Amino acid sequence: MNFSARQKKLAVVMRQAGLDALLVTHLPNVRYLCGFSGSAGVVLVQVGERSHKTTFYTDGRYTQQAHEEVQNAKIVVSKKAALAEATAGVIQAKIRLLGFEADQLAFATYKQLAGILGRRTKLKATSGLVEQLRMIKDADEISQIRASVLLAASLFQTALSVAKPGVAETVVAGELELQARRAGAEKMSFDTIVAAGARSALPHGRASAHPIPAAGFIIMDYGVILAGYCSDMTRTVHTGPVSRAHRRMYDAVREAQLASIAAVKPGVESGAVDHAGREILKKAGYDSFFTHSTGHGVGIEVHEPPRLARGQTQKLAPGMVITIEPGIYIPDDGGVRIEDMVLVTESGNEVLTPTTKDLITL
Ligand code: ZN
Ligand code: ZN
Repeated sequence: MNFSARQKKLAVVMRQAGLDALLVTHLPNVRYLCGFSGSAGVVLVQVGERSHKTTFYTDGRYTQQAHEEVQNAKIVVSKKAALAEATAGVIQAKIRLLGFEADQLAFATYKQLAGILGRRTKLKATSGLVEQLRMIKDADEISQIRASVLLAASLFQTALSVAKPGVAETVVAGELELQARRAGAEKMSFDTIVAAGARSALPHGRASAHPIPAAGFIIMDYGVILAGYCSDMTRTVHTGPVSRAHRRMYDAVREAQLASIAAVKPGVESGAVDHAGREILKKAGYDSFFTHSTGHGVGIEVHEPPRLARGQTQKLAPGMVITIEPGIYIPDDGGVRIEDMVLVTESGNEVLTPTTKDLITL
């Protein structure tokens, strides 16, 4: 991972924002900037006209891990909490304007920080400075994401072999998660969704003790974290005979998903990608049942910028990795969602998820 290039890019953004330093407290951003994967660490980036200096602060529990993982940063292991030590570093360096991550820092922590710094240092709320860089994945990240996507996809067969009428949703999720760990995943990207029958109409129906009914859709939405990078995919399968109405629903979602994917290319606003799929569902009369946005960025976090939703003006660019996941949810009946991860390339896009979108019946 090229941490030096990332820090250099951040320094440019910080100069544009007029900051003397940035206090990075959001752990995924800490990991992105210096490689630390533990749960207590803070990065302080100071910028001069041409140079920048990165310091990583942690506490004694992470001495060994910090020295193993952290690159391109001075490591300070503190007897106090990492943030307290970083604050002392800010005072010592006589920083005048310090940016902090306003979307991430708790209000109580902010008040404490402001109290200690007093008038010596002015605090400035920033939003998404590192996240903005993280939207564009570098080559190392893309290869990690590919591996994570392929591992998740390889588990789909496991899910199919377990899912059948009478089996609890949690049993399917559990088997999937066991196989993920056996294959080397650190953990799941989020709580596995297995929602069968009428429960498939819940867009975020976490696996429950409910048994899979004899007939109906099953939405399976899951992903793994492999070497720090997330994957996220959804497939919908069906038990028992597929009614004409269900076939129509499934085909509409598949068509909408393909239309949104076809719209993915550099320079296109993310809202236009959402629109492309939504139009298909509208024509088929399902638009009021598509109750969420089309997708999101994926990387160190499973949900990160950009957002692919109605009216979003963020332009897509090569190196972004996004999901495309339209769905239809009909209360008391069922739901369908199909989700792939897609890489924005120079010429258009590449669908990373290799799994079939034909409707599988169990
Ligand atoms: Zn998902
Ligand atoms: Zn998703």
